[in-house]
Order: sequence, then structure tokens, then C-alpha cells
Amino acid sequence: MANNSQGKRIGIMGGTFDPIHYGHLMLAEQIRTGFFLDEIVFIPVGRAPHKALSDTADKFQRYEMTKLAISSNPHFSVSDIEIIKEGVTYTIDTIREIKEKLGPNDALYFITGADALLLLESWKDYSELIKMVYFIGATRPGINNEALTKKINHLETTYDVHIELSYVPALAISSTDIRNRIDQEKSIRYLLPESVEQYISDHFLYKNHHIDFEKMNTYLSRTLSSKRYKHSLGTAITARKLARIHNSDPVKAEFAGLCHDLAKELKKEKMLKYIEQFSIYKDPCILKQPNLAHGEVAAGLLALQFDISDEEILNAVKWHTYGCENMSTLSKIVYMADIIEPSRDFESIDELRRLAFIDLDEAIITFNENCEIYMRRSGQVKHTYTDKMLASIRSESNQ
Ligand code: ATP
Ligand code: MG
Repeated sequence: MANNSQGKRIGIMGGTFDPIHYGHLMLAEQIRTGFFLDEIVFIPVGRAPHKALSDTADKFQRYEMTKLAISSNPHFSVSDIEIIKEGVTYTIDTIREIKEKLGPNDALYFITGADALLLLESWKDYSELIKMVYFIGATRPGINNEALTKKINHLETTYDVHIELSYVPALAISSTDIRNRIDQEKSIRYLLPESVEQYISDHFLYKNHHIDFEKMNTYLSRTLSSKRYKHSLGTAITARKLARIHNSDPVKAEFAGLCHDLAKELKKEKMLKYIEQFSIYKDPCILKQPNLAHGEVAAGLLALQFDISDEEILNAVKWHTYGCENMSTLSKIVYMADIIEPSRDFESIDELRRLAFIDLDEAIITFNENCEIYMRRSGQVKHTYTDKMLASIRSESNQ
């Protein structure tokens, strides 16, 4: 390998980084120290020609996650050279662009994991690329080292270049596996930096479903008061946890929990207008306090303005305030999540939190018994559906 004593030795770590993980970071650091490189530039691809990007993060999110992941290493940086381009990007074009800005003695070291190196001859203008940079191939679990050595020999003799092979610690981590884990509700902790894990959770990434969490989250963060928004996030997380315990769909539970109070802060006139528009039953308590209909109004708006057609989600949102007969498990989950989410604080909260994770029906009955005493004392009226809910829960448990 050429020795550029005066020039800079720059490592290039290209990847989709969807998301970036410890396999990438470990690889870059091993090569940086092992090959005495001055720095490593991470280049998230714009749109990789080899990858079909569905149920994945968008390029700006992949760039942001890469930025977060490398922030603690002063020798690492991230480039948006491919991110800012439209459409499919090719490594050869990126390297040409970078080379133009380098000094005559600077050298580029292109880091590739074994899987990527095996596919090198499918890259655009690879025979030119292979002479423009020093390729360093790294071992990767799941890829046969013999095949890798054979490939390196073949490339070296065919193109008259030298390719380094580096044996790095085996970390059987891949972005594909991380995405699948998220979709399957498995933990991804310790597979990638905490900051990236937090970013994924904040942006609802990699949930293999067709619900646009991000859109709803943005809408709620803009339209609700900060207290209500915090309560909505708490309800979403609690509903998700309850769904796991009670064998319900955690994604639907989280989404219904997130948007259950979508209409809670509407002005009285608007609420009255929607009560008419959605033909909501005018129970005496609704006539007295129209705001109580916010669950039913939210369900109407979800269908009308957000294209949500999942009946289970719509019903869970609809009945979260006063309940109804024959509620589904998902509806019961959202009903209780609303009551016990972390920002709630009242006398019997600990008991309700404990009960909700053991027996939803029991939790709903206990909560309503407590409420009844309070309501009687303060002269409030109950929605007629609440008694219907309680009666149907009691008859279910007697069967
Ligand atoms: P995906 O599963 O989506 O293909 P990935 O984990 O392979 O993702 P990429 O962004 O495709 O990640 O990889 C960028 C580069 O990092 C590639 O050269 C790849 O071979 C290498 N790489 C990724 N993970 C590892 C790992 N665990 N060990 C060694 N090299 C790795
Ligand atoms: Mg890959």
C-alpha cells in the first residue's frame, strides 16, 4: 500500500446506515487504527442502486442517525454529499467529486465489509473505481472467509491492484436484523448507540405497517398543548406495553393511544358542529358537557382527515372516554392506558397500574367504582354508555 507521508490518509465508510449500528462503528474504528488513517468519513448513500427502500428510513433520517452515532469520535465525520443529490447515487461519482478537492498526496481508503466486497463487480465503473481508492475488505459474520480471499485474489490479478483484507471482531449485527427486531417488538438495545435508538423511537421508524405515525406525531405536537401532547405520548407507550401483555396488536395500540385526544382541545362551537356532523348520540351528559364527546369526534376526524380505516383503532379512540358495550381488548387497553399513563397522579393510581397489567376488566371496574364515589360527591353525571360497558364486562366475566 502506498505510503503518503505528507498527505492525509482518509478512510471512506459508505453505507445505507439504515440504521447505523455498532458493526459499522467498530469496523470503521478498527480500520482507522489498524491502517493509521487520519480520519474516517461516513457517507450515507442517497438512494442505493442495490437496495429497494420500503419500510425504511428516508435519506435525511439516515444521515441524522449517522451524525448522532459518530458524534463522540473526533476522528469520525459524516458527509451529506450523496444525501443532497436527487435519485440514485453511485460511489464512483462520489469518489470523483471527493478526489477533486483533495491534495496530490492525500489518499482514500475505501472500507467495505465482506458482503459488499463480494458484489464490487456489480458497481458502476468498478474497474475505474478500484484504481482510484485503496480498498480494504473486512470480514463479516455470515460471509465465508474463503470466498472473500478468493474474490480478493481475483480482483487483484484481474485489475492489477492491491486489496487489504482485515480481520475485525465478529459482530453479527446488521441493519436488516435491527429493522426486523423493531417490527417484531424485540429489543435493539446494545446493538447500536443509545442516541440512535432514541431517534428511531422518536420518529416511529421501522415499524412494518401502513400507519403514518410520524405525520400524526407532527400534527399532535403542533396542535395540542404541551401537557396534552406529553399525556398522548405517555398513553401511546402505556398502550403499547399493555398490548404486549394482553396479546393485542402493539402498533395499533400505540397509534390509538397517541391520537386518542386529538379532538380534546377543540373549541366548544367546533365540538358541537362535529357532534352534529358525525351524528353522535346526545346523551344528557354530552348536552351538559360537549367536550366529553372528544373521543367520538376524534374517531370521525381520523377517518375523514387522516384516512384511518382500521375499525379496531377507530373504536379504541371512539370509546376511550365513556366506554361502550362489548369493547374489544384494544379498546379496553386504550381506555386504561389513558388513565394510568406515567403523567397521571391520583390516589388509587398505583393499584390501577398494577391491575391493568394483570386483568383489564378488573382494572376498568375498579376505576369506575372509585369514580362513582367521586362523581356522586361532585354532582357529575355519567354517560349512559358507561353503565352499559360495566354491565357487559361483568356479564363477560360471569360466563
Ligand atoms: P443491511 O442489512 O440493510 O444491508 P448492513 O448492516 O449490511 O445493512 P450497510 O449500511 O449495508 O449495513 O453496510 C455498510 C458497510 O458496512 C458495508 O460495507 C457492510 O459490509 C459493512 N458492515 C455492516 N455491518 C457490518 C458488521 N457487522 N461487520 C462488518 N462489516 C459490516
Ligand atoms: Mg448491507
